Amino acid sequence: MTSRRRFIAIVPLLGAAALVRAQAAAPLVDPKDPQAVALGYTPDAAKVDKAKYPKYAAGQACASCALFQGKAGDAAGPCPLYAGKSVAAKGWCSAWVKKA
Ligand code: SF4
Repeated sequence: MTSRRRFIAIVPLLGAAALVRAQAAAPLVDPKDPQAVALGYTPDAAKVDKAKYPKYAAGQACASCALFQGKAGDAAGPCPLYAGKSVAAKGWCSAWVKKA
C-alpha cells in the first residue's frame, strides 16, 4: 500500500476516534445550571437535601437511573434531561427513575 493510500485509509479512523473522544468528554452539568437547580441535581447523591426531596432514598444515583446513558462503571455519562452535558454516576436529581 502506498503511503498516500494508507493516509486516505487512516483519515476516517482518526475522525471517528475524535468523535468518540468528543462524546466522552461532554462537560459535567453545573449544579447551578437552571435546569439542574429546578430538578435538584447534585453530583453527589450523598448530599441530597432529604428534607427538600423526601422521595430520595439511599442507594439512588444516576448510575441506577433509567435515564442514565453511560455504561456500567463509567464515572459520568449523558442524561437526556441535560442535553450536551454529562451527569456524575454518583449524582442524583428529582427525576430519578429506577433502571429496569
Ligand atoms: Fe441522574 Fe436520572 Fe436525574 Fe438524569 S434523570 S440527572 S440520570 S437521576
